[in-house]
Amino acid sequence: MCGFVGIIGVERASAALSMALQALQHRGQDACGMGTVEKGRFHVHKDLGLVVNVFSDQTLAQLRGSAGIGHTRYPTVGAGVREDAQPFYTRRPGVLMAHNGNVTNLDALETYLLSRGIHVQSQCDVEPILLVFAEALSDRRATGHTADDVVFAVREVFRLVRGAYSCAAILEVDGEETLVAFRDPHGIRPGSYGTSESGGWMACSESVAMDALGFDRVADLPVGSVVIMRPGQAAQVVSVQPEKPMPCVFERIYFARPDSLMEDGRVNAVRWALGKRLGEEWARRGLEADVVVPVPDTSRTSAQAMAEVLGLPYREGFIKNRYSGRTFIMPDAASRQAAHRLKLNPIPEIFEGKRVILVDDSVVRGTTVRRLASLARATNPAAVHLAVYSPPVRHPCYYGIDMPSKKELVAAKVPENEWPEAFGVDSVTFLSLDGLRETMGRPVCMACFDGDYTVPVSTGEVAAIVADRRGEG
Ligand code: SF4
Repeated sequence: MCGFVGIIGVERASAALSMALQALQHRGQDACGMGTVEKGRFHVHKDLGLVVNVFSDQTLAQLRGSAGIGHTRYPTVGAGVREDAQPFYTRRPGVLMAHNGNVTNLDALETYLLSRGIHVQSQCDVEPILLVFAEALSDRRATGHTADDVVFAVREVFRLVRGAYSCAAILEVDGEETLVAFRDPHGIRPGSYGTSESGGWMACSESVAMDALGFDRVADLPVGSVVIMRPGQAAQVVSVQPEKPMPCVFERIYFARPDSLMEDGRVNAVRWALGKRLGEEWARRGLEADVVVPVPDTSRTSAQAMAEVLGLPYREGFIKNRYSGRTFIMPDAASRQAAHRLKLNPIPEIFEGKRVILVDDSVVRGTTVRRLASLARATNPAAVHLAVYSPPVRHPCYYGIDMPSKKELVAAKVPENEWPEAFGVDSVTFLSLDGLRETMGRPVCMACFDGDYTVPVSTGEVAAIVADRRGEG
């Protein structure tokens, strides 16, 4: 998962981007980058690390201009090198771009681009998207691109690039610096846009970036569409290739901030509804418990809803070290394990002698839940029940979340009757698939739960993704 932001029509784009990127830091902590535009000249700085560490006051001062693109990276695979950090840019024509998503047909794209004499240089998915976009613009004309040319280029991207992606770009359109944002035909990855009182525009992964800067959210980026934004002018929204909207349900369950607003409402409200449904399903199992304890931070809202449904007290039983990273988002197993040890500490009195329901958002690899169960067990509870407000993750995600192969997914490799033992708990209750579907109340991508992939991925593409998984989510 990554966070992107594009901004135009502000006094100092670098300062604004720095704040917006900090609001999106939860979407990726591996690397970040920023590019600004000043009279047609791009200034770019990117590096490994957090936004506050990568951008000093001096660096921000050098990134001049009133428009720019920023990015926080979470690599789906690979060591994560600085060269693959976003944004990327092309010189012919001048386009600066960042994205959130995953391209599933990279080999086909590279072949297409090579046939035109264009070499992809990085391991980052946005580069081929950018090159297809830039090539389509150049096909129309060398310079002086118009809004129609941009729509044509986005149509070419939708025709050629398969997968899930939301993108923001800065380029000159109709003689003016312009912010362009587009979202794949199914809108799998999130994105929204908004405006400021002074006529500036912003497009970003989550609305919280707009909140941070006092921008008013206008809407989600419409699926299969392009939004063309210039300071002081109305945004131009062009529907290019809209298909059935299938936004990623895992954003609602885990990734997005609870205060973000997406097409189905506030993420916090969705988590409440999921927790409520989980409570109803748990109650039907006839199990008994004394207290509901969330796994911080993501699970708090759902755990509160579950406690309310069950008429049980809700207690904070784990204290989170605020200065360690989100373990799921860390790129390799060794750093994930180290982070677990640092991350959570139980309050023994909350657990001792009690039948505890531990509420978690999801179980992917199973490492976190095993660690939590063992931490809880060490405090002598009467029982530890695990309740998860999503169904078991049994299928890989090819659309930008780090669940690349079945052999990493504990629910796919361990038989269901062995889950309690495997996780070190007395019982395991996952939200049912129907529970998730009915709670969402509208079509969503939930392929990692039900194996129904919105954008079909061929066997060859799967093999290529697993063998040479690249790009960023
Ligand atoms: S497969 Fe799962 S994680 Fe991937 S986009 Fe769909 S819902 Fe999100």
